[in-house]
Amino acid sequence: VSLAAPFADRLARLRAAIADRGAQGLLVSNLVNVRYLSGFSGSSGWLLIAQDAARLVSDFRYRLQAAEEAPGFEFVEIKRADEDLPGAIAALGCEAVGFEAAHVTVDTHRRLSERLPGVRLEPTTDLVESLRITKDEGELALLARAAQLTDAAMKHALSLLAPGVGERALAVEIEAFILRAGGEVAFGPIVAAGARGALPHARPTEHAIQRGEAVILDLGASVDGYAVDLTRTVVVGAGSARQREVYALCLAAQQAGLEALRPGAAAEAVDAAARGVIEQAGLGECFGHGLGHGVGLEIHEAPRLARRESRALEAGMVVTVEPGIYLPGEFGVRIEDTAVVTPQGRRLLTQSPKTQEIPVV
Ligand code: ZN
Ligand code: ZN
Repeated sequence: VSLAAPFADRLARLRAAIADRGAQGLLVSNLVNVRYLSGFSGSSGWLLIAQDAARLVSDFRYRLQAAEEAPGFEFVEIKRADEDLPGAIAALGCEAVGFEAAHVTVDTHRRLSERLPGVRLEPTTDLVESLRITKDEGELALLARAAQLTDAAMKHALSLLAPGVGERALAVEIEAFILRAGGEVAFGPIVAAGARGALPHARPTEHAIQRGEAVILDLGASVDGYAVDLTRTVVVGAGSARQREVYALCLAAQQAGLEALRPGAAAEAVDAAARGVIEQAGLGECFGHGLGHGVGLEIHEAPRLARRESRALEAGMVVTVEPGIYLPGEFGVRIEDTAVVTPQGRRLLTQSPKTQEIPVV
């Protein structure tokens, strides 16, 4: 069976990486990696990859789904993973089989070792993740669709925002909008008003939004598994001088971060470009998280834009740029977009409007 692009290309690159590590085969346990390599989106399954084999191991529940989503893979049906997975690995006929050290429990590793005395199990890290870190054209097209849907959901949320609306009620509306539009909810939306906005990952509460409160809206949709991430901060009714000042600072920091985002730039340098703007204003202590993170099949994936991340950025990487300024007991401001690194610099995927002054709704 021949593999459709892009899976043939991904598998060829993975096989080269497996050979580089001195192994002949690889057991893929991370379901996100399984999906990336094969297209299979079920909730239970493993891939077994060798130079001449591409097998998807799962059970009866997924037989039809596997044929539909991963037609290029040979389906190996098992009943119980603990009993049957070792046999499937042995059937590869490899002396050395890599496994994903971050995704195999100590218990599973012990069972596999006991039942595979003739196979050398080699721990690997980030073999598939290092392929996922730059996106191909097909992935960028899905991310663009996810961004359009996310922008539409933000517009919808802002149209509903008014004094008296509950944080949780608005979060539910955002989720319903994304689902009705044909997307999936990439993560539970954050709606954080007033002092709750000072909690970077606030859960929406029953709190009814008040006139004068700054509100952080952080939401994302995914399309065919690919997610984007978007945050806007607005004020309801009328803003204070302090809110306008902190918003302007956060926006300037985001612009500095976006301008620094380009191929060859170190991830920590992009973080520093944005962070420096906030530090110069004396509010460095109020920006306690990294500037951004990669997005794709996972809402948080490599690369991270943060301090002590020396990795050089490459065209095709997709990251968020999201400085935040959190004033405990008062309010918070965060502005986030998802952008792709291009040969020339960067291109925004999320296109929700940004104004120089904090928007008043
Ligand atoms: Zn984010
Ligand atoms: Zn976000």
